[in-house]
Amino acid sequence: MGEPIGEIKTGFKILQYLGVARDLWEQIKSAPHQIADLKTRVAELESRLQRCPGEGCPSCGALAFRIQATTRPRSPYAHLGALEYHWLCGECDFKEVKTHYPPNMPKK
Ligand SMILES: [Zn+2]
Repeated sequence: MGEPIGEIKTGFKILQYLGVARDLWEQIKSAPHQIADLKTRVAELESRLQRCPGEGCPSCGALAFRIQATTRPRSPYAHLGALEYHWLCGECDFKEVKTHYPPNMPKK
């Protein structure tokens, strides 16, 4: 029979190993659920990337800010090629008109 202290130490080590084994087993058991969840999330991201994401909406932040229409501005810059881009957010309906000036055009 060994030293009692030595046997207690061995017992604690065995309990530690059993604890580690139990934690690993819990991780292994949850792996199939986590993999299925990740597959769903990857498929959703892939479907979103079928189209180029819109710009960041200045109001809500969603990547759904897109140009809906292009018009000529009512200003002297119109005949020089300036354009008005009518932006609309597909998430929150925020609208904004931005004037685009061709390169080398003096801006007012
Ligand atoms: Zn928005």
